[in-house]
Amino acid sequence: MSKDQNISVFDKIKNDKHEQLVFCNDESLGLKAIIGIHSTVLGPAIGGTRMWNYSSDNEALRDVINLSKAMSYKSSLAGLNAGGGKAVIIGDPKIKSEPFIKRFAEFINDLNGKYWTAQDVNMSTSDIVWMKERSDYVVGLPKEHGGLGDSSSPTAYGVYVGIKSATKHITGNDSLKNKKVLVQGVGNVGRKLVSHLINEGADVSVVDINKENIENVSGDNVTIVNEHEIYDKTYDIISPCALGGTINVDSLKKIKCDIIAGAANNQLGDDSLVPEILKEKNILYIPDFLINAGGIISVYHEQINDIDEKKVMKMTESIYDKVLDVLDHSIKHSFSTNASAIQLAKDRIKENSKK
Ligand code: NAD
Repeated sequence: MSKDQNISVFDKIKNDKHEQLVFCNDESLGLKAIIGIHSTVLGPAIGGTRMWNYSSDNEALRDVINLSKAMSYKSSLAGLNAGGGKAVIIGDPKIKSEPFIKRFAEFINDLNGKYWTAQDVNMSTSDIVWMKERSDYVVGLPKEHGGLGDSSSPTAYGVYVGIKSATKHITGNDSLKNKKVLVQGVGNVGRKLVSHLINEGADVSVVDINKENIENVSGDNVTIVNEHEIYDKTYDIISPCALGGTINVDSLKKIKCDIIAGAANNQLGDDSLVPEILKEKNILYIPDFLINAGGIISVYHEQINDIDEKKVMKMTESIYDKVLDVLDHSIKHSFSTNASAIQLAKDRIKENSKK
């Protein structure tokens, strides 16, 4: 038995003070899911539902605990009146069906708005539309269903302004003209980020394991990098926009850049070691949950029924100043940028819990 399995569920949620875990089970549909509510101090918990073929229930539990906490930090830093939550459905996404998704939505509905869900890994737009039929507490709907649509546009814009802010911090000027930028993953967010960077005259390289997605950006005057040669060159900025965990002890042996700032969630492979190595290598890391908040800003506006794209983009633009605040805090307190972002997020939650 692994050490993790010996720890009680309550011990697992004690350190980060999670409010509630909900275990959902419908044997007839093969539905097993966990909803994690980390905090509702700032407002209802908001965060997407992901479906994943976890190797164990424990792995799913760990994931929902970490992801829901990160959502609290993301919403807090973004200045939203929203808490942090996340849901994970355990199983092969191929077993999804309309009754399966609608049954899951009923479990969300039972929480009466304490948790609001949206789209995450392996959940499609049609899943979100089906869920909305069984629960009011669903956001991230397509525009034709009254929502704000694809959240990758604000997410990409937030990453772009965050990169500019980090550049200003280092060089005193936020221009990205001629800056060498590697975008790792050119899916929904990465592709839109490439457009912003090209428009500003950056020297953009891209890497992706999906040839079709590479083709979508190849007309944009970008350099295509082979995935096996990804860290061979020196860049001003590396922007991870694929999967989590790419900034780790191994990759940092090869990475040569001044700034790491991208959309992917949970970029740091190991929270304790990696910030130290980043410091030694003099790489400025902009925390993912600070810079990729455009998506949550968009679904939050749906949650408060303020369907206004301009407002979403304006609020997303404030990521520029929030990055500078975190960097100032990090210097003032000699914290890593990651630790500073967490501290500022926790401070706002703590301040509000007294009210
Ligand atoms: P996506 O699935 O559309 O794109 C991901 C891209 O990464 C794909 O093109 C995929 O082929 C590529 N990829 C996967 N593994 C790779 C690897 N090893 N090397 C290179 N490329 C690889 O996802 P997305 O919506 O663009 O989101 C990108 C990241 O940003 C994800 O980590 C997501 O969780 C995070 N994020 C997205 C949003 C949003 O609004 N879409 C919001 C916050 C965070």
